[in-house]
Amino acid sequence: MTFLRHSGISVEGVLAIPLSDFERQFEGVVRDDNGRLMTPAEVRRHFEEAKAQGHRILPMNGKCEGWDYHTGCPGHPMEPEKLRYLKIALHGGGSYVQPLSQVHQAIDGELDGLQVGDKITLDFELIEMTEDEYENLAEFAGH
Ligand SMILES: [Zn+2]
Repeated sequence: MTFLRHSGISVEGVLAIPLSDFERQFEGVVRDDNGRLMTPAEVRRHFEEAKAQGHRILPMNGKCEGWDYHTGCPGHPMEPEKLRYLKIALHGGGSYVQPLSQVHQAIDGELDGLQVGDKITLDFELIEMTEDEYENLAEFAGH
């Protein structure tokens, strides 16, 4: 299972930045909830208020569901990407599955041992699955 994780920023880390550097680092960097740029003084106050509330980590953007101010983003399970494969029915029975990028090798294998003039029919089925599902397929010949 893949997880999406929102990044956070350490309240203590930000407040540890010396005031002399703070101005330079936070000038025109942070926006409030209305999209207005905050002055470095406002940013500092924002982090001081967060610290007063016992918050240790603030989200970098405001759209994390279940954000924890002590441990950050809980992680969001992501649907893994589905890839395209070709299921190839073998002449002698059975079938196997190949990533589309490797299909030519599979076809080469099927053509091995044919004589000129032989006629064959290959049966393909386009299927979709995740890489994990592919790795866990039962062992087929050639897989
Ligand atoms: Zn999150």
